[in-house]
Formats: sequence, C-alpha cells, structure tokens
Amino acid sequence: MRYADVILPLPLENSYTYRIPEDLEKNVIPGCRVIVHFGKKRYYTAIVIEVHEGTPDTRLETKEIYALLDAAPVLRRPQLRFWRWISSYYICKLGDVYKAALPSGLKLESETAVIYNADFEATAPLRPNEQTVLDAFHGASRLTIAELERKTGLRNVLPVVSSLMAKGAVEVSEELKRGFVPRTSVFIRLSEEYRDEARLQAAFEELKRARKQESLLVCFLDVSHALNPALARELSKKELLERSGCTPAVLDGLLKRGILECYEKEVSRLRMSVCRPLTPNPLTPAQEKAYREIHEAFRSKDVCLLHGVTSSGKTEIYIRLIDEVLRLGRQVLYLLPEIAITTQITERLAKLFGDKLLVYHSKFSDNERVEVWNKLLHSGEPLLILGVRSSLFLPFKDLGLVIVDEEHENTYKQQDPAPRYHARNAAIVLAGMHGGKTLLGSATPSIDSYFNALTGKYGLVELLTRYGDCLMPEIVTVDVKELRRKKIMKDTLFSPELVGRMREALARDEQVILFQNRRGFAPMIACKACGWVPHCVNCDVSLAYHKANRQLVCHYCGYTYRLPEVCPECGGVEFKMQGFGTEKVEEEIASLFPAVRIDRLDLDSARTRQAYERILLDFEKGKTRILIGTQMLSKGLDFGNVSVVGILSADSLMNFPDFRAHERAFQLMVQVSGRAGRRDKRGTVVLQTTQPGHPLIQMVRRFAYKEMVRSQLEERSMFRYPPYYRLIVLVLRSRDAEALREMSGLYAEKLRARLGERVLGPVTPPVTRIQTLLIKKIVLKVEISAGIAPLREVLERVHAEMRAYEAFKRLLVHYDVDPV
Ligand code: ADP
Ligand code: ZN
Ligand code: ZN
Repeated sequence: MRYADVILPLPLENSYTYRIPEDLEKNVIPGCRVIVHFGKKRYYTAIVIEVHEGTPDTRLETKEIYALLDAAPVLRRPQLRFWRWISSYYICKLGDVYKAALPSGLKLESETAVIYNADFEATAPLRPNEQTVLDAFHGASRLTIAELERKTGLRNVLPVVSSLMAKGAVEVSEELKRGFVPRTSVFIRLSEEYRDEARLQAAFEELKRARKQESLLVCFLDVSHALNPALARELSKKELLERSGCTPAVLDGLLKRGILECYEKEVSRLRMSVCRPLTPNPLTPAQEKAYREIHEAFRSKDVCLLHGVTSSGKTEIYIRLIDEVLRLGRQVLYLLPEIAITTQITERLAKLFGDKLLVYHSKFSDNERVEVWNKLLHSGEPLLILGVRSSLFLPFKDLGLVIVDEEHENTYKQQDPAPRYHARNAAIVLAGMHGGKTLLGSATPSIDSYFNALTGKYGLVELLTRYGDCLMPEIVTVDVKELRRKKIMKDTLFSPELVGRMREALARDEQVILFQNRRGFAPMIACKACGWVPHCVNCDVSLAYHKANRQLVCHYCGYTYRLPEVCPECGGVEFKMQGFGTEKVEEEIASLFPAVRIDRLDLDSARTRQAYERILLDFEKGKTRILIGTQMLSKGLDFGNVSVVGILSADSLMNFPDFRAHERAFQLMVQVSGRAGRRDKRGTVVLQTTQPGHPLIQMVRRFAYKEMVRSQLEERSMFRYPPYYRLIVLVLRSRDAEALREMSGLYAEKLRARLGERVLGPVTPPVTRIQTLLIKKIVLKVEISAGIAPLREVLERVHAEMRAYEAFKRLLVHYDVDPV
C-alpha cells in the first residue's frame, strides 16, 4: 500500500494522509493536486507533499484519494520548502500558506451538483426540510449545494440531501469545476499553395476586379511578412481587420477563394508588448558608483540596502541589475508594496524588457494569474516578474535577484488572514533558497533594515543626490497654534504661507499636492448641545463623517448610516466637526480657488483601479492642478511639475500610541515632500504643525534620516523593542467579555510561567472592539538570538493546554510575528 501526505486548504493540521488507489500509484507524486474527501461529504483540492509506504496510523480509517488532477506537479520543489518556512516562522498551518499561495483557478472547489429524480414517488411522508429541498428544484433538474442552500435558506442542506438520496429522491454527482479556460483566437495565414511568388502573382491577377480584397491581401502580406521567413509573424484576424480597415466580408472573400486560410490557436492572456525593447539610460557618475558598490556588497553579502533619496534614480539602478541577471539566464522578482503604484513602473519596465516582463497581482483576473503561474512552471526562461507580496509564491526556477522597492512600507506585511508574513523578510529567505541576492531600496529605509545594515548583516549603499542635480525641497514650518492664537487662521485649514505659495505656483503654471492622512470630512462629529458622539455598532470607535452623502462611516468595519437630522439624545439639530479629512480640504480649496481644477486621491475617490489611474493620469497631464490626498500620494509616484507640497497637519501623524509612530511619521513626511520639485526646479514644502519645535519636525526639515534612526534606536533598546527584540503578539478575540478576560489572563499566566518577563499583558488595545469582537493582546518580547523554533514549541504546548478549557472555545486566537 502506498500513501500520500497532502495539504488541505484548512487551518487545522499541517498535513493529512490518504491512501493512493492502485491505478494511480505511479502518478501521484509530490507537487500534484488531488481531490480528497474531508469531513462530511466535502471535497477539497489538496496538494501532495510526500508519498510513502506502510500504514500511518491503524486506529484511524485512511480514506482513499478520489481523483488526481495533474499529470505533472504544479509546484516546483523549492516552493514547498518556502511554504514550510513561512508556516514555521509565522506560526501558522501549511494549509494557510497553501490558500495564500495558489491562485484560486488552481484551487478547484467541489461544486456538488444535485440531480432531481423525476420518477421519484414518496412511499412515506417526507420531513419538512426534505420537502423544502425538493420544492427548490421547481423546474430545475440540477442544482449545486450552494444554490440549494441559497434557495431554501437552510443552513446546512447536506444531511437533508443525503437522506433524500437514501430515499432515492435525488442523486448526487460530483462535478468538478475546471478553473482555468484557455483562450483561443482566430489567426490568418497564406494557404500552402500560394506560398510562392508565381502563384501569388496569379492570385493578384485573379483579384484585379476585387479591389478591396486585393488591398486586404497587400496589407496582409505587408504586416505578416509572410513571404520572408526571417521576419514572418502570426497575424490574428482581429489585428488584420483593424490594420486594413476592411470588413469581415472582404476577408471572407479571400478565404473563399482559398488564398488565405484561418486557424484557431490558444493565445496567451499575458499582454505581449510589441514594441522593440529600448536600451537602459546611461547611469550618472553617482548612480554608477552606487551600482558598483552594490556589486561589491553582493560579493560577501546576500542582502544589500540601497538608501537613495527620492528621485535619485534608484529605479535606473534596478534596471541595470535586472538586465544583467536576465542576461545570465536567471529570473528576477521585482516587489512593490501596492498594486496602486504598479502602473507607472510597468510602463517603464515594459519598454525595456518587452515580453520578458510578467506582471502578477490580485487585481488581475484569476485566469491571467494562472497563466503567469503556468508560464513560470513550464519554462525556465529568464523572466522578470513585477508583483506585490503574493508573487513570492510563484513557481520560480532560478531566482537570481529579488528587488524590494519601497522596502519600508507596512503594506508588505500581510494582516489578515494567515499567513501573516512580511514579504520583505520572506523575500530574503526565498532568494536565499535559490542562491540569489536581495536588494532593498528606499528613500526612508525601515529602521529594522537600516539596523541590519549598520551591524553588517546587510550591505549598505547610499545615493544621496537627486538625478539632474535637482535640490531637495525647502521645508517651511508653520506654527498653526500661534496663527490661531493671533486669529490669523480662523475657520480655515490653510495658513497664509501655504495659500500664498500655492497662488504663486499656480500662476507659474505649476502643480500642488496637499497631504492629509485622514479621509472623509471629519474624523469625529458631536452634538453641539449635549456632546453626543455617534459610535459604530460593531466596533469601539467613533464614526467619521463623510459629507458627500451625509454619511457616518466606520473606518474599521465599513459600517455606514446616515447622519440623523436631530440628535437622538437631546433633539439638538447642530453638530460640530472635530478634526478634518481630505473631503473637507477639498471643499475649502474649491472655495479658495474656484477656477482651478482639483482632484482627490484617497480610498473613497479611488475605489477602483480605473478611478485611481484616471486621477493620476489627469494630474500627470496637468489637467488637474491641485491634488489632495492621503498616504496614497506618498508611494513612489513621479510627477514632473509639482513645486509646492502642503502637509496640512503633522500632529495627527505623530501623536498615536505605537513605538513606530515617529519612524512612520518621518517616512511619510519625507516621502510626501519628495513629490515636490522633481526634475529641474527646487520645490517647497509647507509643513503645518502645532509643535514646530518638536525634534522630529526638525529632523524632517533637515532630511536628517540618520539622526532620526539614532534617536529611535536609543528608545527602542531601552524599552526592549525591535530591532533589539522580536515582537510576537498573541491576539485573542471573542464576543464573550467574561470568557475573553478569564482565558487571556490564564493564557498569559501560563506563558509567564515559562517565559518570565518576556510576557506582557494581557493588554487591551486602543480600539477594544472591532467587528463585534472584543480584543485582548498578549505581547511577547523575545531576544532575537533565541530563534523562533524553541519558542514555537513552548507556544504550541501552552496552546494545547488552553484547548482543554471549555471557555477557550469561545475565543479566536492567532499569532502575529513581527507585527507592523
Ligand atoms: P527614484 O526611484 O530614486 O525615486 P527614479 O529612478 O524614478 O528615482 O528617477 C527619477 C527621475 O529621474 C525619473 O524620471 C528618471 O527617468 C530620471 N532619471 C534618473 N536617473 C536617470 C538617468 N541616469 N538617465 C536619465 N534619466 C534618469
Ligand atoms: Zn445632543
Ligand atoms: Zn465598525
């Protein structure tokens, strides 16, 4: 007997063992997908990770594999190793990793179709639920389980269906949905017999009285180069019709004559770039130096951090390195923190690398993602993959280089669901598994990475001048408190300084960016008479006011309702706003500059990719002159004509309770400032704050990155924070306050018994309830040198003990390793 260990897309055990049917013994191999039963009549697509002889555990009945989906593995061997690392470091199950790793087109789901037996006659009365299910068929002969559940409103129709099956009223057929449908296109070619000059001449004679067909044939020959084997290329029907401007009827004429013929072919959905690749720009001496230093660093180190100020030309250096690695026949992964910024960079890379470039992210249709997957799986070609964090899971063959651009961005950390991995750190591990290098790039590196560079773990290369000798912008601070006291800034968000600079810039035909890291109109609203504040029903937060549709919105769960006309507490009709968001900024700007076109970039205005791209394009083309936005503005965007940036309130960035607050505030302010004065003019940043003397504001003014790092490192080592200690947060959530209080206390106690003062809490986070679940956290601060493996053992043992408590079952519990 042979058995297969498989991973199921479930967060339970790491793997499960199934018996391999005899006829499949030779075919079931690691990396293949199989269909297995698990639980009550549920089918899952599982991945085989190991095949072995002998019985695993005689006490349990081992089920048989139901079907094999692949003749060849869909994973490459290093991928499984990488999955194992993720699950072990981030303390989650392999099934969690599997779910995150495979595009859903490869994770087939069992759409169980239920077939109604029209000949069925009940010999005994049916139970009400059974009758409900049968009634649901009304006219339809087959319905899936999901459809039945929807139609009947029953929670779980499976038992009902199975009793109906026993009675012969229905049959069940397992019909597996095939996730991936290859796309075909019609192509046109010259018929065999016309592929020589003489015959073709005769064809043109024949067409003398069919002018349109003649010109179509000329166009065909011109575009397809059909007569020149060296240049010949395939031409789709669609392209031919477009190019020639002819109707399908004209083409039909040529097809009928047998001069041209058509054929169908599977085509790739991947956008093939047709233009000829350009060559990279020559590097400036400063860039050249940085580039050589990176090479030097890679001789002795696997990771190098490139600290290059905004607009220094980091991308140009990446391009040079990519080109080199591709020439060596190896693959490159270029990671970006967000889908949002892929557009600009995709265009730049496509021009250089043509069809060697593949883009992979979640806004792509699933079929496109499967196609990228398969392309990597079946070819060992040197390819460049541009993608967001999930692209780490692609079946790379030989990664020579991983570039992590904007490496300081939080969005590299997956929050929910598990695996809660940090893509930057995972990328380093992945590259290591391939014997490749990792280049981290940022104008404001994370303190974690910078610390690793300072201690010699990573190489460090600095590029501190902007391209084209463009100066860093001048940062002017404005003391908002003082202006308010003097009644100069009354009922306005804008200091005279900022408005003045904006007017000047607009008069010079330049553009302006205004940054406020809050969306909506006001973060909080209160009744003027009694102070009543509307709260979310699901979360312990006040609601933000969005004026556009007079709505109150929870930014944690999305809960929305209309602002009542009168206060439900006192009947008052006046509300006062507290704080301000981008919507309010937009309203005030519109009244200050009525003739100027303005736009807003935040989660509300850029809900879709198209909306996002339109906003950026309008700004790039100069159609809009003032762009207001949240941190979406700070992400590696390159605009040539922005001369003034306004940071409307620095205070809201600095004042929140997190040990990374200052690091992040610095990064955001410097990144946003970096949008000012690119190319040939020095820009200005007007920074409004109530604390102009605050050391952090002073550091931002001087772009004193290293100073910021030094002061932060001091604090962190004092209070046992990263990078000196590793943080692991145990998050416990429940609707039951009592169970949560009791169980989190007990959990912390048990951990403390083993790990001592490394265990803090349980603590109640600033927001105590999100989406109806109350939250407690237990924080572990552990020595980096301790490693995670022995710790995980302790954690798992304690977790197993906790499972013995009845109340613990009312809790949702997960670990967050290296939270951001
Ligand atoms: P960063 O990624 O460091 O912000 P970029 O690589 O985007 O900087 O460069 C900023 C701008 O300067 C881009 O428009 C880029 O085309 C231009 N640039 C930088 N280096 C060069 C170069 N060596 N030759 C031509 N243009 C360059
Ligand atoms: Zn009131
Ligand atoms: Zn909420």
